[in-house]
Amino acid sequence: MEPNQNIKIALETMSGKGSELGINFLQLQTIIRGVKYSHLVGVCWDTCHLNDAGYDLVNNLEQVIEEFDKIIGLDKLFVIHLNDSKNIKGSHKDRHENIGYGNLGFDSLCSILYHPKFVNIIKILETPWNNSEPPYKEEIIMFKNKQFNNFLNR
Ligand SMILES: [Zn+2]
Repeated sequence: MEPNQNIKIALETMSGKGSELGINFLQLQTIIRGVKYSHLVGVCWDTCHLNDAGYDLVNNLEQVIEEFDKIIGLDKLFVIHLNDSKNIKGSHKDRHENIGYGNLGFDSLCSILYHPKFVNIIKILETPWNNSEPPYKEEIIMFKNKQFNNFLNR
């Protein structure tokens, strides 16, 4: 890394499988502080991974945001991977689910997408494909309408 470059790197929150690092905000803070050009390094929230790591985005979103801001700083949140999770909070698994079909649920993910503190943060869907069809169009329509639609007929 050169000090004058402007490419930024976002470290993704991990779900805590096996020997993964970066499974909580303190670990990510330690990594960022240990990097020489730490002003170019930030964090990518993955909502599925945060849930599986034990963060309660369903009932305690404000507290999670506050904790992140205190430990790392909201200015270091570069991007959000918006995914539902097949697993319960704290399961340490990492299995993405389509929006509204998992343990986070549509309303919680909508609250994150439209949170005033996240207005300028890039959001990316990493939800599973179904029968080799990408689900993104339907999921984006649901988010725009702020209304869950059972497009997978499950
Ligand atoms: Zn991700």
